Amino acid sequence: GAALVAAVAQRLTSLRRQPRISEQLQLVKARMRSGLDAGLRSKSSSTIKMLPSFVYLTPDGTERGKYLALDLGGTNFRALLVRFKKQTSRLYHKIYTIPLEIMQGTGEELFDHLAQCVCDFLDYMGLKNTRLPAGFTFSFPCEQSAIDTGTLVAWTKGFKATDSEGHDVVSMLREAIKRRNDIDLDIVALINDTVGTMMSCAHEDQRCEIGMIAGTGTNLCYMEELKNIEKIEQRMCINTEWGGLGDDGCLDDIITLYDTEVDQNSINQGKQRFEKMTSGMYLGEVVRQVLLDLTRRGLLFKGHVSETLKTPGIFETKYLSQIESDRLALLQVRSILQQLGLHGTCHDSIIVKHVCLVVSRRAAQLCGAGMAAVVDKIRENRGLDHLDIAVGVDGSLYKLHPHFSQVLKETVRVMAPQCDVTFQPSEEGSGKGAALIAAVARRKR
Ligand code: ADP
Repeated sequence: GAALVAAVAQRLTSLRRQPRISEQLQLVKARMRSGLDAGLRSKSSSTIKMLPSFVYLTPDGTERGKYLALDLGGTNFRALLVRFKKQTSRLYHKIYTIPLEIMQGTGEELFDHLAQCVCDFLDYMGLKNTRLPAGFTFSFPCEQSAIDTGTLVAWTKGFKATDSEGHDVVSMLREAIKRRNDIDLDIVALINDTVGTMMSCAHEDQRCEIGMIAGTGTNLCYMEELKNIEKIEQRMCINTEWGGLGDDGCLDDIITLYDTEVDQNSINQGKQRFEKMTSGMYLGEVVRQVLLDLTRRGLLFKGHVSETLKTPGIFETKYLSQIESDRLALLQVRSILQQLGLHGTCHDSIIVKHVCLVVSRRAAQLCGAGMAAVVDKIRENRGLDHLDIAVGVDGSLYKLHPHFSQVLKETVRVMAPQCDVTFQPSEEGSGKGAALIAAVARRKR
């Protein structure tokens, strides 16, 4: 038993070099900082794109009226109606799944599908004959030239629709709506989900100037000083697209063979390397790669590599949350594994749980190191010795994993000691935030 555990622990050192971990995280922080700075200087030469959002203002509480928010993020499309009143806002929404063949079909099919969902929603709300202002939350990197135009730079996460990269996604949605001829919309803003999340939290807390997502993918935005943004005149929210850190090889000393496997099996090889170590779409796959390796070495499942274990995607990130739950007895871990078709002993369950803990902890620490770079940058921007700031956060990994949020917070506390960072889980972040941005955008028109 002890020898086995020691052998497993040794295999896992490539994921968790315990004595050097803070040193490694300091390197990640420094590289994130260089990436942020390089991206602001010139987008073309940096893996961190630092995309201007054209969101200058935080909401001031005077927002009123009815807005639509359309949210295409990871796996779902959500349509929301947000109604701002004097003190309150009300929200109605409906979730639509995006079939894989549409995610990876043609752009026109994808946007026709979205228009179909919008039509269904308006019908459902009894608003088919009104022309509502809408905010379009589109959580993929877009090069924006105004609040309501943006060219898709590259698909990320599970999306791969053709004839979309290099095109203005707002025009694509407008055209799809026009093709239907039965609904009308006034799309006033294109919004990244990080920016929506930040705005929605800023509505409650003035200190909120960062938005972060830890869901299917990972990303962050923050309010950047105008002097650091060339050719742009005001303080603006920047969508960092930090998931691209490492795409130039700068994380190669940290990336493990398991990460390389996950990358090789993905639809965007070589891209989003930081994201692939830190977000919901990939953590389960990292765990599966480790389990495969341990099994091949005879350290797990009696050395029997089952067909189940060889199947990509069987180990979803939600199982990490279940397995790592403090309240779960070992027998329950074993039964979760059995339900997945992974039959092992209680000893195997201990090992699997340990692997899950290591992989999710690494993810939270990497995000913490990145966050430390961001808050220190903001602090230096403002010439402060001490920064008090709030972060709006959204995403299932952050909200549902039993330890991710705690490890993230602790890492930031240790790595950015001059900053006091409050994390605020956003309620209906991207929906309400999108409506707020739409309201602000319309006010400015
Ligand atoms: P999105 O980021 O697509 O807008 P979510 O924030 O819901 O949506 O994130 C979905 C991702 O979260 C999926 O990759 C899924 O694997 C992961 N996920 C779902 N449930 C959990 C959970 N309980 N714990 C950790 N991750 C989860």
